[in-house]
Amino acid sequence: MRIVITGAAGFLGSHLSRYFISKGHNVIGIDNFITGNIDNISDLFKTKKFEFIDYNVVNYIHVPGKVDAVLHFASPASPIDYLKFPIPTLKVGALGTYRALGFAKAKKAKFMIASTSEVYGDPLINPQVETYWGNVNPIGPRGVYDEAKRYAEALTMAYHRYHKMPVRILRIFNTYGPNMRLEDGRAVPNFMVQALKNKSMTVYGNGEQTRSLCYVSDLVRGIYKLLQTNINTPVNIGNPHEVSILELAQTIKQLTKSKSRIIFKKLPQDDPQVRRPDITIAKSKLKWQPKVGLEEGLKNTVEYFKKAIK
Ligand code: UDP
Repeated sequence: MRIVITGAAGFLGSHLSRYFISKGHNVIGIDNFITGNIDNISDLFKTKKFEFIDYNVVNYIHVPGKVDAVLHFASPASPIDYLKFPIPTLKVGALGTYRALGFAKAKKAKFMIASTSEVYGDPLINPQVETYWGNVNPIGPRGVYDEAKRYAEALTMAYHRYHKMPVRILRIFNTYGPNMRLEDGRAVPNFMVQALKNKSMTVYGNGEQTRSLCYVSDLVRGIYKLLQTNINTPVNIGNPHEVSILELAQTIKQLTKSKSRIIFKKLPQDDPQVRRPDITIAKSKLKWQPKVGLEEGLKNTVEYFKKAIK
C-alpha cells in the first residue's frame, strides 16, 4: 500500500510511519512541525519507502500518484499545547479532517481519523464503551481539542454515509513511549524528566484521578489491525490497566531511582477524574489486546528520556 500519514513527525505519526514501512508499505509523511520533531523521523529519510512533505494540512492537500489509505494523525495532543495553540488545534481537527477526507475521497482511498478518549470528556461511566456519548465542556480549555475531534468523527461518519467511503474511527486512550517531547507537558514526559533530573515531581490535584496507559508499540499494532478490518464505527484502542496519577508518579520515581519529592499542584480545569477503555470490540473483532505491561513500557521509555535529556 501507499499510505499518507498526517502528523508523521509527531509521537504517534513517527511510530506509525516506521511500522508501516517495516511491513513493506510506502509512506508519505506530512507535518508542519507545530508540535512534531524532525528527529523523530530522521532515520526514515534513508529509505526510499518514505517521502516527506512539510505542509499544513488545514490547506488543500495534493499528492501525486495513487494512494491507498490516508491516516489523519496531525494535531497538538497535550493539554498544555491546546492552551498554546487553541486555534491551530481546532483548525487541524475540523478543517484538516475536511481536507484529509476530501483528499482520500479523490484518491478512492481508505480514511482513518485519530480520534481520542477525550470525546468522552470527564466521563460519567467507567470504563468507557464506544456507545457512550460523553460529558464534554465545549467552552473549557480542553474544548478546542475535544470538540474538534468530535466534529472530526461527525464529518468522517457523514463522508461514510453520504459518499460511502470506507472509514476507520480510532479512539486513542493515553499512550506513551519514546519520541514524546520532553516539554510535551503530559504526565509521563513530565514525571520522567522531573525524576531523571531529581526535580520535584508535579502531581496535579490529589493524584487520585486515574488514567490507563498504553505502550506505543501496542497502539500501533492495534491501528494496523483496525485499518485492515471493515469497521466504520469508532473503536477504542488502549490499555485497560487503570492507575491513579499518584501511583504513576511513584512508579516512575522508583524505576528511575530518583531522589525527587512528589509535590501537589492545582488540578487543571475539566481534568477527567477517571479514564479506562472498554476494549471488547478491539478484542473480539480485531483480535487485539495490549501486551506490554506498565513497568516494562515505562522502563523502555526511561531509556529514551535518559538519552534525550543529555
Ligand atoms: N498530570 C499531573 N502532573 C503533570 C502532568 C499531568 O498530575 O505534570 C495529570 C493531569 O492532571 C491528568 C493526568 O496527569 O490528571 C494525565 O494528564 P495528561 O496531560 O498526561 O493527559 P490527559 O489524559 O489529561 O489528556
